Amino acid sequence: MDIPKKNLNFIEQIVENDLKEGKNGGRIQTRFPPEPNGYLHIGHAKAICMDFGIAEHYNGICNLRFDDTNPVKEDVEYVDSIQKDIQWLGYHWANIYYASDYFQQLWDLAVKLIKDGKAYVDEQSADEIAKQKGTPTTPGVESPFRNRPIEENLALFEKMNTGEIAEGAMVLRAKIDMSSSNMHFRDPLMYRIITGHPHHRTGYTWKAYPMYDYAHGQSDYFEGVTHSLCTLEFEVHRPLYDWFIDQFADTDYRPHQNEFNRLNITYTVMSKRKMLQLVQEGIVTGWDDPRMPTICGLRRRGYTPASIHSFIDKIGYTKYDGLIDLSLLEHSVREDLNANATRVSVVTDPIKLILTNYPEGKTEILEAGNNPEKEEAGSHEIPFTKELYIEREDFMEDAHKKYFRLTVGNEVRLKNAYIIKCTGFKKDDNGIVTEVYAEYDPMTKSGMPDSSRKVKGTIHWVSVENALSVELRLYDRLFTVENLNEEKERDFREMLNPNSLTINTKAKAEPWLKEAKPLENFQFQRIGYFNVDPDSTPDKLVFNRTVSLKDSWAKEQQK
Ligand code: ATP
Ligand code: MG
Repeated sequence: MDIPKKNLNFIEQIVENDLKEGKNGGRIQTRFPPEPNGYLHIGHAKAICMDFGIAEHYNGICNLRFDDTNPVKEDVEYVDSIQKDIQWLGYHWANIYYASDYFQQLWDLAVKLIKDGKAYVDEQSADEIAKQKGTPTTPGVESPFRNRPIEENLALFEKMNTGEIAEGAMVLRAKIDMSSSNMHFRDPLMYRIITGHPHHRTGYTWKAYPMYDYAHGQSDYFEGVTHSLCTLEFEVHRPLYDWFIDQFADTDYRPHQNEFNRLNITYTVMSKRKMLQLVQEGIVTGWDDPRMPTICGLRRRGYTPASIHSFIDKIGYTKYDGLIDLSLLEHSVREDLNANATRVSVVTDPIKLILTNYPEGKTEILEAGNNPEKEEAGSHEIPFTKELYIEREDFMEDAHKKYFRLTVGNEVRLKNAYIIKCTGFKKDDNGIVTEVYAEYDPMTKSGMPDSSRKVKGTIHWVSVENALSVELRLYDRLFTVENLNEEKERDFREMLNPNSLTINTKAKAEPWLKEAKPLENFQFQRIGYFNVDPDSTPDKLVFNRTVSLKDSWAKEQQK
């Protein structure tokens, strides 16, 4: 796949300046550093496009680094899914690294810091430490353990890793400045004890685990990262990132952190913790539920890598956080599928149409173009018979003048077939229309003299005799609230949309679809874009509605 050039603007500028100044010997190296504690979401795709995009554009390399410093939440299931999703987006890492590979190196540096009098073991509880933090305008309080002798610190740090010390009983803290205006300098935690969970790679070898601020920058340094790109919430951590680098860097080379805005989208959550809750509580069917903003959810929903790239390209990268309209994401996939998806006929709410002048038992094989936007897409065959299914809403008993579909006396074109004229209908005892009658005009088929005769309406249809019964899964927004980040007081589960999934089991599809493969994309003419769900069986196809046909985003833009 050709990955379009991204709208990298200000980060690109930074990189170009650094190259001009000859920083780090003109080398460009980035990393994508997911914590393997969940599946990737569309927000991660934004970071991935940046990390890999920069490396590609400046002939550098991008590594995949699993930031696996918290065994409690991490799992190999996530490690595997993350790799699959990055590859699906079309990217290739130079190497796979794990922060856990550096546990020994990180430990050794921490010991060095203790020996330099710049780190100490604190025996206070997390609560006590938090209370002493102070506020941005009032200084913090120094821990009573802050000035304990170096030898004592070294001995206790060793013990933190043997299992003798209970979780939470001790931490290692950097000794920086309890009155710094940057709260992150107020003796930040470097190590904590975790004894109850095996690490997915190192098992029970380690009991003391490094904290993000310490581990991340050092991992960058060990690997030779030049540009450590991350989201804006880490901007306030940057001085601490630099402080740790300053303690150890002994060459001209040093990594630099640069931040860009996080992706937030309306009507959804963008947090692994919340997504995990949705999965664990059975609110969705899994990480790949098509309503999820995960990469695997979007893939199952029918999103293509190209549609995600074009979305990321449209939103760009800035220095301020915002909220992106979900309809822009939908617009991107609609654009891609409009250009590439095969057109088929599926009747979602079927009612029988009987062509009274069409021979009983006859089947004609007609041709249906696969994509009017793409000549080379070719065509496929569709059987035409006396009895057809049409959409219930394409017939009206008492129609107004502007109704150009079927009503007694009106003519419509049956897509890829004949012009027909409605002659009557039948109702059941409840007044529900059960059958519609019409006569077809044999001269109006393709290749016949009146084939180009125009009528105002065209409707789609499926031959009753050949129809496949299929299941349609129709998705709506997962949440009813536009900006979930603003609803701090409410549990996010209170804002779920109870109608985010509707299942249609009465739909009828043209028989050609029988050969459709899982995840294949289609446009159901006049209905929307759908793809084949992996839940499909040889007896029953299941389709996911990727997105409806109507483009509210494009409309907004025209106003
Ligand atoms: P979450 O809050 O969903 O758990 P995270 O930031 O903890 O996300 P990580 O696995 O640590 O997830 O993220 C890996 C990389 O992806 C980081 O560089 C992070 O900055 C970036 N990232 C995470 N969420 C977003 C987002 N919504 N938009 C852009 N980048 C993101
Ligand atoms: Mg994180």
